[in-house]
Amino acid sequence: GATIGILGGGQLGRMLSVAASRLGFVTHIYEPGANPPAGQVADRVTTAAYEDHAALTAFAESADVITYEFENIPTEALDVLETHRPIRPGREALRISQDRLTEKVFLQGLGLQTAPFADIAGADDLTAALAEIGTPAILKTRRFGYDGKGQSRLSASTDAQTALAEMAGAPALLEGFVEFSHEVSVIAARGIDGAVACFDPGENVHRDGILRTTTVPARLSSAQRTDAILLAANILNALEYVGVLGVELFVTGRGLIVNEIAPRVHNSGHWTQNGCAVDQFEQHIRAVAGWPLGNGQRHADVVMENLIGDDMNRVPELARQLETALHIYGKADVKPGRKMGHVNRITQKS
Ligand code: ATP
Ligand code: MG
Ligand code: MG
Repeated sequence: GATIGILGGGQLGRMLSVAASRLGFVTHIYEPGANPPAGQVADRVTTAAYEDHAALTAFAESADVITYEFENIPTEALDVLETHRPIRPGREALRISQDRLTEKVFLQGLGLQTAPFADIAGADDLTAALAEIGTPAILKTRRFGYDGKGQSRLSASTDAQTALAEMAGAPALLEGFVEFSHEVSVIAARGIDGAVACFDPGENVHRDGILRTTTVPARLSSAQRTDAILLAANILNALEYVGVLGVELFVTGRGLIVNEIAPRVHNSGHWTQNGCAVDQFEQHIRAVAGWPLGNGQRHADVVMENLIGDDMNRVPELARQLETALHIYGKADVKPGRKMGHVNRITQKS
């Protein structure tokens, strides 16, 4: 069969690999780190750095199409890969989502609402931005942040310049704090033919900056649900996107505000594995392989809960619950804050 090359060997790469295998594809993972979770299930693994042009070339030539599980792939590596095989989703989606500033400018350009923001290149910028945006606010690194890392919350009493010093000179963004009632996300897909399909929005609860649970159905009116799906489609079409995209939203009295987008399968879409005939991983593989999108209609109510760090101790008990589907990532060492697996609790569709 055709080969899908996947950049990144974490749990998302692992679940993409499983979905691809199920459709008869051969999978090839590229991952700099040793013993990646995806390596246990993929047909082939290349362990090499993103600076290794020979390894990148060999990887690209082994694949029919290249996709990825994370957005922070170095630009030079993408340049090498792209001379050999198509990368899907495409470069524009990566360029935009690699930088929170570029992403917010892009979203506002589509007429979407974001948190108020300001680019922070130094101490003076921060003073000016705080005068404009006020507190509470959040200082975030423009690049490389995930699971709330590289973020610092500023209140009236916080020493803003100390928070800036913690960014260690990395380009940063100040965001006004959005007073949301809750958070939702849309997992949206677009095929090579331009067809768009969105999974039902999920409601997300975070703790310490890390996603804890996603619940479907989300608390949304039918108008809000339509808005969420239309704005996700707007983003997909603007990027001529191919694949699955995660769109994180704040629900407020002033409508839906886009927090961030992720050009890949998304943790808040894991419920689809047990709530839909075709889950986000299969949908992504279908799209990047040029297949038609599948049926992502929701057939159950689901609560997805992440198993983080010591939550793994609960696995024996969770394994006894008939309504609970377990997904374990096969990571060797348990660390606090590390995503080790997740469960999907299924009940009849309400
Ligand atoms: P992810 O793992 O989702 O990529 P991340 O590190 O990129 O996370 P964000 O999504 O920017 O982080 O923020 C994490 C969480 O912090 C959000 O889901 C939300 O709960 C809260 N948060 C972030 N920005 C804001 C904001 N401007 N106003 C209010 N809450 C915010
Ligand atoms: Mg993020
Ligand atoms: Mg986020």
